[in-house]
Parts: sequence; C-alpha cells; structure tokens
Amino acid sequence: MMRSSVVAALLAVLLILSALPAAAAPLSQEVGPQPQSLPDPRFTVQLTIQSGAEAAALARLLPEWDDALAAGATQVILTQAEIDKLRTLGYDLAVAGRAPDAPTAWPSCYNRLNTLYAWLANYELAHPNFVEVIDYGDSWCKQQGGCTTTGGQYMGGHDLLVARITNELAAGPKTGRFFTDGGIHAREIPTPELAKAFIETLVSGYGVDANITWLLDQREVYVALTSNPDGRTLVEMGLGDEPPYTGNPWYWRKSGNNSISGSASCTWPPTSSSHYGIDMNRNHIFKWNVSGGGSTAVCAQDYRGPSAGSEPEILAYENFVRSIIPDQRPPGDNDPAPADATGFLINLHNVVSGGVILVPWGWTTALAPNNAQLVAITQKMRTYTTSPVYNWQYSLYPVSGNTRDWAYGELGIPAYVIELDGDDFFTTCSLVPNIINNMLPLLKYAATISDRPYQRVYGPDARTVAVSLPTVPSGSPLTVTAQINDTQNGSQAIAAAELYLVRRGGATPGDPGTGAAMAAVDGAFNSTTENVTAAASTAGLGRGRYVALVRGKDAGNNWGPFSASSFEVTCFYADLDCSGAVDVLDVAAAAEGLQDAWQVGAYDYIYDVDNAGAGNGVINLVDVQIIASYFGQTVP
Ligand SMILES: [Zn+2]
Repeated sequence: MMRSSVVAALLAVLLILSALPAAAAPLSQEVGPQPQSLPDPRFTVQLTIQSGAEAAALARLLPEWDDALAAGATQVILTQAEIDKLRTLGYDLAVAGRAPDAPTAWPSCYNRLNTLYAWLANYELAHPNFVEVIDYGDSWCKQQGGCTTTGGQYMGGHDLLVARITNELAAGPKTGRFFTDGGIHAREIPTPELAKAFIETLVSGYGVDANITWLLDQREVYVALTSNPDGRTLVEMGLGDEPPYTGNPWYWRKSGNNSISGSASCTWPPTSSSHYGIDMNRNHIFKWNVSGGGSTAVCAQDYRGPSAGSEPEILAYENFVRSIIPDQRPPGDNDPAPADATGFLINLHNVVSGGVILVPWGWTTALAPNNAQLVAITQKMRTYTTSPVYNWQYSLYPVSGNTRDWAYGELGIPAYVIELDGDDFFTTCSLVPNIINNMLPLLKYAATISDRPYQRVYGPDARTVAVSLPTVPSGSPLTVTAQINDTQNGSQAIAAAELYLVRRGGATPGDPGTGAAMAAVDGAFNSTTENVTAAASTAGLGRGRYVALVRGKDAGNNWGPFSASSFEVTCFYADLDCSGAVDVLDVAAAAEGLQDAWQVGAYDYIYDVDNAGAGNGVINLVDVQIIASYFGQTVP
C-alpha cells in the first residue's frame, strides 16, 4: 500500500469515528468479578523486511516479536491497532487473515507445569536405568523463599530440573553429550512438550530402535523441560476467573524476578509486550551488555537484567552445562574451537512460521570463527525436517547475552536456537503433533554427532544398515550391508566403511578405523554413494541381543556417525556364552546376573531361562538352578 493511500484510509476511518456517538464513560470504581471480555481479534501479517536495521526498528515497535524478527520472521500476529500503527509509519505489510484467538482456557494439548514436573518424577521412577532427574538449582522465586507478584499473588518458586537420558548400565565410555532445553521463554509453551516427547522417544526406543539403542549406550542426552519455571507459573496464573486474572493464559516471556527497580510500573495484569522479569535469553555472561543487544527497560520483552548472569536460572544453567561439557574455545572473538570439540546444545523457542534454525553469532553480524562447521551442521539438521523444511538464519541485528552465543562462545560447541514452526506462542493444538514429529529426528541427529560434531558432520551417513538374519545361531556367518552416502556431507567419494558387532549395553567401540573393514559391493570405493557389505563371524558371541554398527569415511578422511541394525544370537539356552558346553562360567554368569537384578533392578533377559529358555519375565534363583542343573553337560 502506498503511503498516500494509507493516509486516505486513515482519514476515512477518522471521519466514520467522529460520526459515531461518544462511548459511555468507563465506570470509575468497579467492584466484584468483571465479566470476561473477549480478547481483541488478532491478524496474521506478512512483513517484508529489507535489512537488519529495519528488523531491529520493527522489533522496537513490536517488542513481543523481538526474537522472531531477529530470526528473519516474515509472519507475525498483530492487533488491528498495531497494524494501523505500522501502516501509518509506512511499513510494507499485508494482512493474511485472522490469527487464532488468544485462548480463553488452557489449550488441552499442553500440560500444565505441575503435570510436567509430576510426569518427569514418575517417568524417572518407571525407568530408573535410563532417566536420572538432576536438580541443578533454584528459580529466583524459590531462592527468595517465595515471592509475590505485583498483584499480590504468592509464588513458591521451583527447582530447576534436567533429565539425563542414557543407559546407566552400559559399559561405556560415554562419548558425547547433548543438552537441550525448552521453556526459557515461558509463553513458548510448545517447547516443553517437544522436550517431553524427545525424552519419551529415546527411552521407549531403547531395544526397539537399533539407532536409539546404541545412542543411549554411547551418549548422554540432557533435557530440561523448562529452564524458566517461574515464568511458566506466570503464564498459567492468568487462568483465574476473578480480577486481576483474565481467564486466559498470560503471554509471559521473562523470568519471575520483580526485585528490579521499576518492576511495579510494568503492566499488570501483564500483557505480551509489557511485564516485569528478565529476558533469560539476554542475561548470559557472554557478551552481555553489547550495544543494542538487549533492552535496559525493565518492562521490555528483551530486558537484559541488571548485570551479566544476574539471574539464578542463568547462573545455574551455565554452571550445569559447564559441568558436563568442557570449555574448548580460546577466549578471542576470532579463535575457533578445535575440530575435535565435543558436545552440542540446542535452546528451543517458539514461534516462527515455517521454523528456523538460528546460527551463532547473535551478538554481532560478523561470522563466528567456526562458521563453516556451524553452517554445515545447520544444513545437515535441516535435512531431518520435512514438513516444513526449516529455514536457517543469522541474527538480523545484535542480540547479546543469549544462550547460543554463551554455549558456542564460552565452550566452543555447536549451539543453536531453534524457533519452532507454528501459528502462535500457544500454537493451535491440531498443529502440535506434526511440529513435534518434524523435530524429533533433528534432535536425535544432534545427539548422534555430539561426540565430535564438527568432524561427524562432514563424514558420510551410513544408511539402510541391514543384517542377513535377525536371529543367528552363534558361530554362523552374518552378512551386514549398508549404503554409505556422502551426498549431504560434502559430496566426497567414499573411502572406507567398517563394522562392529556390539552386545546391547556393551562397551563403546574405539576410534574410527578400528572396526572390521567392509567391502564396496561394486568392487571399488570411488563414488559419493557406495553400497557396502561384510561377512561377519558370530563365533565367540554369547546368547543375547546385539547391534551391528556401521560407519563410513570419505576421501577427506572424515568418519561419519554410526547407524545400526539389531540381531540376536542364539544357542542352547543354558549355555549362556554359547561355548558348546554348560560349564562353571555359565553358572557364575547367571549368579552375577541375579546379583545385578537385586542391586540395580535390571537384568539381561538371557538369564531368565525358565520355560525351556522362553523365560517368565523374572530372574530369580530358579533360573540359576536350571542352569546349574545342566552344569557339566555338552550341548548340541
Ligand atoms: Zn523465545
């Protein structure tokens, strides 16, 4: 729309308004419950942004869309008043249609915070060998011994919790750590649901999905459902039905800290563009206070806090991540982390229509010293998203003190913000399952390459790993095949592939190049895609379940990550090690297995031998006695 026609339209509106009778004066003193008013209609608006400076200026006008605009969003949700204001200022925008109304109740597809915390505690109890919930600190409110909102509502505060997902019984060593968190911006409520689904996918996939099985044997995955639980309490606080509650969840983004001078002047009940608290994604110690990188206004959506790392949630976050992932980058802005850096972090946000991966840096529009590797990982991550395929972006204007800059800048690891696809901060429920399912493969990939992400990303994929027999008698040959494919990893010729047969929960294989060599089916390694095969021996493998792990190398000497297929080795059920005779070793192994079951509540099913080897789901002394009864016998 041309500016002159905007002016004409505004004049027309003013004429109509002036012809209407004056609205009744508002009641000066309302008492008792107010009838709930419907929220203002909101509209989905397409923006055309020409430059980073224009995005930054727009973000100041639309503070609640600060992050989305930094991420290059072209679609935001605005009220009519906001649309009119932008048009008056001459911005190029088009109204695409009505946005979903702000919910007037809690949307049913999202768990309440107390449900999320209870679910996590129960899930840990149900899966003690795969889930350990770690309390890594207290929220601001809890640290205060409780706190009170501007409106006088009491909040007790929360523990800060992260779930460690790994097979605690695996022989190890664990060779990679991936950390991800939802909810740092409290109103972005799809992100804790994604984090929860990721935990469930991993834990329920163990022993079912060969790739998740080796992943939990070899990696530690850390998932925080929400890194800002006080803020989340304030989102849910709006649900009350008496003043000052509004009957709908509040669009609260920041922390629950209202101790900063001026907090009482922020809007109450809060609005999406004015509330107290600190923007956790501007409070990290790395490059805090960069000019333009965050607001100094207490009520602003990107208020950076009074000092670097002033907030207990952020200090605890940094201390925890530092405790699991070492600092691997020298301190200079232009110093790269080494190619063999280990660890990976993704900070989950919502919402940018179409989804976007934000690549460091954020505090400057200059490129990060590991830029080529960071972008290569981004491009590879995008291939795991399908509907939609996520976009990627550097920050369009300085955003400092943010999580990804801290994790990359301080530790040297690949670290990203992912803004989920969706249609609102509280995305419409019918869209949520697809949004989650679209992201789970990406998160799994991040965990997969977290041992050496800057190297693995250039190594080929091992695809379609397959074994010739899902169940193989011990000693019989097993053929393992796969496709080694470098077309998404630099498109170099494949140079080698190798195979390991590892018992489930067994020791992590050693460095690349130490496995059994696989052959190119066409006789020569010379193409970006090679089908490979190996005839493996199962001699010496005892009864039990295994993974066949395959990885490939390209001509640049880059080894990719493993992919796997499962198989089972069988023999006479009392001959646990498949040596051909039931001997004292088998009896001793069964006794040890029984002791494990008593001590850690977990056991290998191979020791459960009642019912002629079929088991009854419980390992006990009877099983050991059955094996002992065959002691001294040679078995067929
Ligand atoms: Zn956010």
